[in-house]
Amino acid sequence: MGLNVIMMGPPGAGKGTQATRFARERGLLKISTGDILRDAIKDGTPVGMVAKTKVDRGELVDDATMIEIVRLRLARQDALCGFVLDGFPRTVFQARSLDTIMEERGNGPLVIVDVRVPEDELVRRLAIRRICSNCGTGADAFGSAKTCRKCGGRLVQRVDDDKDVVLQRLKIYESSTRPVLEYYKARPTFRTVNGAQAPEIVASELDSMIDEACKASLA
Ligand code: ADP
Repeated sequence: MGLNVIMMGPPGAGKGTQATRFARERGLLKISTGDILRDAIKDGTPVGMVAKTKVDRGELVDDATMIEIVRLRLARQDALCGFVLDGFPRTVFQARSLDTIMEERGNGPLVIVDVRVPEDELVRRLAIRRICSNCGTGADAFGSAKTCRKCGGRLVQRVDDDKDVVLQRLKIYESSTRPVLEYYKARPTFRTVNGAQAPEIVASELDSMIDEACKASLA
């Protein structure tokens, strides 16, 4: 049986970092819709061309496009053992569509974790966040490196980490994504973690709460 996890949380909460680590340790597929869109933009695909203006402005890409991206990705062989989703669902409509997809798959519980961080800390983190201009890897938040640890590419600020765009993303998070938490809140597999702690503490709390939520769903 598979394990399926949704990592929720506002921009800057660290959900991408935790999703990557958790997926790697458990041998699950990580799907980051933000990474998929940034790759599509870089490659100039039709989806990338539609998404570019929205992503650069911190607005949401339309539900139909996002649901199709996730549906196709989840249909592939490497998603059969389960997945960790980062950046999806961001609207209640996306969440409902994911429920339909999950019913069709019928493969293991869906654990939802909300990574919580106060807004002033999010703004502070996003202001200093740097990613590789070549491969998109995030730089160590506390390091002073100028180049990417993976490929040696130049570290830059993400276009949508510009201060005004960050405020716009936080606003959209409140209006469109917070209702998703309401949608999931009553489920026995919904959990919250304090994301304002050191990454390794967040990681160990996440590990135990996901295992425990999984057991609770099977009881
Ligand atoms: P964040 O740090 O804000 O969580 P992401 O890398 O997850 O950033 O996403 C970057 C941008 O990609 C979003 O601001 C939005 O424009 C677009 N995007 C990603 N996932 C979705 C989604 N599920 N629905 C709509 N737009 C999305």
